[in-house]
Amino acid sequence: MEHPENDKQFAGLTVNKGIEQPPTVNPYMKRRQRRRMLSAAEYVEGILKSNISILSQAVTLVESQNPEHEKIAQEVIEKCLPYSGKSIRIGITGVPGAGKSTSIDVFGLHVLKDGGKLAVLAIDPSSERSKGSILGDKTRMEKLSVHPNAFIRPSPSAGSLGGVARKTRETIVLCEAAGFDKIFVETVGVGQSETAVHSMVDFFLLIQLAGTGDELQGIKRGIMEMADGIVINKADGDNIDRANLAAAQFRNALHLFPTPPSGWTPEVMTYSGYYEIGIDKVWDMIYRYFDFVKKNGYFYTKRRQQEKYWMYETINDQLKEHFYNNPIIEDMLQDKQRRVLANRQSSFTAAHEVLQFYFNNLLNHE
Ligand code: GDP
Repeated sequence: MEHPENDKQFAGLTVNKGIEQPPTVNPYMKRRQRRRMLSAAEYVEGILKSNISILSQAVTLVESQNPEHEKIAQEVIEKCLPYSGKSIRIGITGVPGAGKSTSIDVFGLHVLKDGGKLAVLAIDPSSERSKGSILGDKTRMEKLSVHPNAFIRPSPSAGSLGGVARKTRETIVLCEAAGFDKIFVETVGVGQSETAVHSMVDFFLLIQLAGTGDELQGIKRGIMEMADGIVINKADGDNIDRANLAAAQFRNALHLFPTPPSGWTPEVMTYSGYYEIGIDKVWDMIYRYFDFVKKNGYFYTKRRQQEKYWMYETINDQLKEHFYNNPIIEDMLQDKQRRVLANRQSSFTAAHEVLQFYFNNLLNHE
């Protein structure tokens, strides 16, 4: 249509015909795709093809608290199970500053030298409070984080320790199905998380430091009993003598413990993660352990025990969650607690009444 401004009365003013706008500024520019949620079968297919991006998404799904996500995640885990189990799983613990990340960086490169793929996972009980985890953080493992065959994942942060540990265990299944044949699970050696890690790994490595006084002070007997190997880090420079002394003290202390059910006597040695001294020796020990327990069958016995443990852990966890997350129970508990503290009711009858109410009224009888 001719523009009205082009009428003679507006002489001196011409408006050109417009040109048609192109459909997009750049027809070659792909439209940004919104990530759609994959189906369980698509996740499984991606994982079995070792697609790292899909593996990461599946792990995020495992960690999610959303019931819909949890449902798909369980389906994915179930389908990946037949492809899992073919790795060596190693737990690594030590107090903050013991040199876990420095060591894992070096250990990781060491185990990848002969091929294979390594996943580094973490269980950090403090992450619930701090809303984020420092363990398994990529920036702490500089060399490993850029290695094409390493997958580093920080600790899941939501939920109870039991819940967090369960998610890590489920992540192990996914990683193994994706072809990772070496799994490290890192944890801080300060609380109960060691027990959780111990129940999902084949070998438990305790990283220690040479101190100044009595080396064994402050180390919980339980943690030492769990260890299949104790390594004293930072055996370098003028710290070597102290590290050797600490190793001798640990060896003496271990003599007092009965032989563990594996039949393997835990070994103690010194090394330096930072200067990469003695790394071969540490891994020679770990590989010898695997030969030993695979020969005597304990490797398989332990894995079966762990399966059983996790079944009961999951049941315990979910029962507690169902009970404590119920708003009526929460109110009742507040009330009962006040009564018990005021000596108006005994703790036993208070507990009994709450449970009775729960069993009679709040369970789904479907
Ligand atoms: P994490 O908290 O257990 O992960 O410990 P880091 O790996 O972050 O190490 C804590 C500190 O100890 C860092 O400053 C490291 O550089 C240092 N460190 C780690 N390994 C060694 C070692 O073998 N020798 C020495 N001298 N220092 C080390």
